[in-house]
Amino acid sequence: MADDQNIKPRYIFITGGVVSSLGKGLASAALGALLQARGYKVRLRKLDPYLNVDPGTMSPYQHGEVYVTDDGAETDLDLGHYERFTGVSAHQSDNITTGRIYSNIIEKERRGDYLGATVQVIPHVTNEIKDFVLSDAGDVDFVLCEVGGTVGDIEGLPFFEALRQLGQELGREQVLYMHVTLLPHIAAAGEVKTKPTQHSVKELRSIGIQPDILLCRADRPIEDSNIKKIARFCNVRESSVIQGLDARSIYDVPLAYHEEGLDAEVLRHFAIKPDKDIDLSRWQDISQNLHNPDGEVNIAVVGKYTILPDAYKSITEALVHGGIANKVKVNIRWIESESFEKEDGPDAVTALQGMDAILVPGGFGERGSEGKILAAQYARERQLPYFGICFGMQMAVVEAARNMAGISDAKSSEFGPGGTAVIGLMTEWVKGNEKQTRAAADDLGGTMRLGAYPAVLSRDSLVENLYGSQEISERHRHRYEVNIAYKDKLEAAGLKFSGMSPDGVLPEIVEIPGHPWFVGVQYHPELKSRPFAPHPLFAGFIAAAVKQSRLV
Ligand code: GLN
Repeated sequence: MADDQNIKPRYIFITGGVVSSLGKGLASAALGALLQARGYKVRLRKLDPYLNVDPGTMSPYQHGEVYVTDDGAETDLDLGHYERFTGVSAHQSDNITTGRIYSNIIEKERRGDYLGATVQVIPHVTNEIKDFVLSDAGDVDFVLCEVGGTVGDIEGLPFFEALRQLGQELGREQVLYMHVTLLPHIAAAGEVKTKPTQHSVKELRSIGIQPDILLCRADRPIEDSNIKKIARFCNVRESSVIQGLDARSIYDVPLAYHEEGLDAEVLRHFAIKPDKDIDLSRWQDISQNLHNPDGEVNIAVVGKYTILPDAYKSITEALVHGGIANKVKVNIRWIESESFEKEDGPDAVTALQGMDAILVPGGFGERGSEGKILAAQYARERQLPYFGICFGMQMAVVEAARNMAGISDAKSSEFGPGGTAVIGLMTEWVKGNEKQTRAAADDLGGTMRLGAYPAVLSRDSLVENLYGSQEISERHRHRYEVNIAYKDKLEAAGLKFSGMSPDGVLPEIVEIPGHPWFVGVQYHPELKSRPFAPHPLFAGFIAAAVKQSRLV
C-alpha cells in the first residue's frame, strides 16, 4: 500500500438507489480498473438478493447472459464486466445469492450445526453474508462488493444489514459505502431533480448506512447548485458527489470517472496518499482506438434471444474487442433465427445480405435451431466468415452432416428422440483427474459441463495459427457434445476437427479448410476477451470480416 497503514483489504460496498439499470456493475468495474491503474490489487464481488441458487437456470430474457468462471460457477453478468475491466479472473466465491445463502443455512440446520438455536435472519442470514464477503479475499488491497437491486427492496434488506454491521465491526477506515443514484431531467419543468437521490439516501440512512460517495448518473452536466444541494441534504462532502454522465462507450467510463475524481475520493476516504501517478494509458489507447476507426464491418448475430442484447453481453463486447484489434467499428445486426423458418419471414439470403460475417452464439432448445442451421449453410456455401459458438458450433456440425456428409436426418438429441444424433447428451467426461458422470434425468441446475477445460489443437490448423499455441484452456457451459462416432465421416466430407479434449474424446473445435474463415467452438471464447487483450478468435474473425468487406 502507498501509505503506512497496513489495513488490508479495504472494502468498498456499492449499492444502488432510485431505479435499477443505472450501471452499478459498470461503475464497480470502472472503479476497480482505476484502483488497478494506481497500482493496487483488486477483487470484485456481487451479492444478488434473488432466491435462485445461481442464475444458471434463469431465462436469458429475464436476467441476461449467464457468465461462467474458470472454476465453473454460473454467475451474474456483472462478473463479466468486472473481468473485462480488470482482467482479474472471477471465482465461485465472488457471487452469491439469497438462494445459496438459505440453502447453506438449511443444510447446516438439518445437520444440527446450530445446536438447537432458533435460526433467524439476524444473526444467521446476516452472518452467512458477512462470512461470504470476508472469505477468500486473497492478497488484495481492495475488495469491491456490489449489491444487486435497489435500496428498499424487501429481499435486499439482510444484505444491507450485513454490510451495515461490517462497517461497524471493521471500522470506517476499512469500509467505504458508495451509492449510485439517478438525477432525472424533467422535460416539462426543464429541470434536473435531486429529490429521488435525497429519498434514496434517506432510505439507506434509515437502515443505518451513511454513504461516503454518491455517484449520480445523469444525462447532462450537473449544475454546481445541485451538487451543493445533494451534499447538504445527503450529508456527504461536495467533492464526494461524483457526476456520472452517460458515456459514448463503456470503455470511456474509467477515464470519465477519474476526471470526476472518483478514485481520488476513495483514496481520500481511506486516508491513503498515493505514492505514484495513475497510469491510464491502457484506457486512453482503447478510447482513442474506438473513436477513430479506419473502417467498419457488419456482423450478423443469428440467435434466439436477440430482443434482449444483454442475453449476449459477452459476445457483443468480444466483437467490440475484435474491432479494437483491427481498428474497425463493428456494427451488429441482431437476427432472430426463427424468422428464417417462417413462411412469411425473410429468407436467410435476404436477411443476411450486406453482412460481412455471421456469428451464431450459444443457445438452448429446438426453437430457432433450423434457422441457425440455415445461417451456417449460407455462410459455408457463400464463403462468408462464420463463427459458431457452442450451440452455434453444434448447429454447424448438424448442417455439415446433412449437406456435406449426406446424413440427411442429422440432429441433436437435445431435440428429442429420432433421427441421427450427431450431437448427443454427454454422460461421462474427465475433469482434472476425476471422472464426471451425469444422467438424462439429473437436475438442470449446475449440472452442465462447466468452467475451464484444456484442449489440444491440430498442427497447421487455422485455430493453432490464431492462438499461436497448440494448448489452450477455455470455459464451457453445455450438456451436449459432437458425437465422436461421426468424426471420420465428417472429416472425409471436409469438416476438420482441429481441437480435441486432451484425451481425444470430446471434439472442441471444427473448421473448414479452404473456406475463408469457418470456425465452430464448443466453448465460450467470448468470456475471456478483454478490451486490452482481445480474444484471438474474435480478432481473427473480425479480420476475416474486414477482408470480406473489401471484396464487395
Ligand atoms: N444447448 C447446447 C448444450 O447444452 C448448447 C449450450 C450452449 O450453447 N451454451 O450442449
